[in-house]
Amino acid sequence: MHGVINPATEDVIASVAFASVEETDEAIARAHEALPSWRDMAPGERADLLRRFAAVVRAHEDDLASLEITNSGHTVGNARAEAQLVAKTMDYYAGGPERLFGKQIPVPGGVDVTFHEPVGVVGVIVPWNFPMTIAAWGFVPALAAGCTVVVKPAELTPLTAMALGEYAIEAGLPPGVLTVLPGAGPVVGQRFVDHPQVRKVVFTGSTAVGKQVMAGCAQQVKRVTLELGGKSANIVFADADVEKAAATAPYGVFDNAGQDCCARSRILVQRTAYDRFMELLEPAVKGVQVGDPRDPATEMGPLISRQQHERVASYVPADARVAFAGSCPSGPGFWFPPTVLQGSADDRSFREEIFGPVVTVVPFEDEADAVRMANDTVYGLSGSIWTRDVGRALRVSRAVEAGALSVNSHSSVRYWTPFGGFKESGLGRELGPDALESFTETKNVFISAD
Ligand code: NDP
Repeated sequence: MHGVINPATEDVIASVAFASVEETDEAIARAHEALPSWRDMAPGERADLLRRFAAVVRAHEDDLASLEITNSGHTVGNARAEAQLVAKTMDYYAGGPERLFGKQIPVPGGVDVTFHEPVGVVGVIVPWNFPMTIAAWGFVPALAAGCTVVVKPAELTPLTAMALGEYAIEAGLPPGVLTVLPGAGPVVGQRFVDHPQVRKVVFTGSTAVGKQVMAGCAQQVKRVTLELGGKSANIVFADADVEKAAATAPYGVFDNAGQDCCARSRILVQRTAYDRFMELLEPAVKGVQVGDPRDPATEMGPLISRQQHERVASYVPADARVAFAGSCPSGPGFWFPPTVLQGSADDRSFREEIFGPVVTVVPFEDEADAVRMANDTVYGLSGSIWTRDVGRALRVSRAVEAGALSVNSHSSVRYWTPFGGFKESGLGRELGPDALESFTETKNVFISAD
């Protein structure tokens, strides 16, 4: 049994049995067995089951939120929103089975049609930063497309995914259609990669492990979607509403204690507005409420683990150029204050994904300089652009190599718009209207009129 820890108190809150390779194989076999009846179920019936699943999740919103607060240190506001997001994702993709259209393509001598066939058993590997939402973004569209699914939550945060597995049964999904298997990455996750009956892997996590997953999947030409790291830029031009840009910048990077692949952890500010921006940023950062995640006034909770705390702290050594920092509780819990570094584009803190509440601010000269600096990274996930000039907003949005940008806001992920990264931030897109198709193979059939 493995102890699950509350990162705000360091108390052990649950013990979870981890699946072995043999148990993983048994779950994959059950998913494979459940595939034909799930795939061949009338589309409307599959849609109804997903709607019922959403209703059960809604009925357990408080339970899910409370598990995420104690297991992951998410603030009560975020945890509730995440539980609601899971239900909304289910409702959205419940519209999928009846809309999974193929095409009819004009050909001589007959009829040509395409079908979207479910790819088969899908393995979803989930990280610890958003345990229930990231699990749902993988398994919900897969189920809607007619696939059966095995899910591996992160070792540190298995509780909400395990609850979702139970709610699936409560909602009436047939056994084997969705199985949640807590366990170690190199055991359960690796088995999803290696097992020939798993026909697609959806992986969210570090770029290093994502590359291994992709290389492993290549052995069987297995389909793979990767959502990996980020080092997203928040670009503030001098012509922007600098007050608003500074007031919102902390929430673009410190949400979930910075443990967000979309965190805008590099702030690029046009030199002529730099001093003003920093002046305004300081009270905004010091005003971030860090503390007990159960308190509705709290805006930021703890880091997920001692190990993550050590990693984040390594980016703020004693001689770091700290411009200013907020405060955080002392005592038990993996607390880290929101921290702003002044730096240069060569700094490690400016180049590497920190995954904690640390942001580096660097000045730029002009539009070309801003785009060059924003793109000078192996990552390309997200980013924000602050300007009042519509032409510049369009030019810079097109020039920044990233999959999910926002102008004059730090918009977060929406279940009905596509999400994913350029370059080493990932491969493929999740969510949005096209996600279902990524869980299918297109089949072309010609029917002769003779
Ligand atoms: P990992 O990439 O190690 O973990 C993500 C998931 O992959 C976990 O479920 C993990 O299991 C699993 N996993 C680990 N090894 C394998 C393997 N060989 N085969 C299949 N699955 C595997 O991320 P970490 O949790 O170690 O976080 C490290 C850093 O990664 C963070 O500090 C951050 O920079 C980045 N990260 C980025 C995320 C994002 O959303 N872009 C999310 C999480 C992390 P297990 O729980 O056993 O480790």
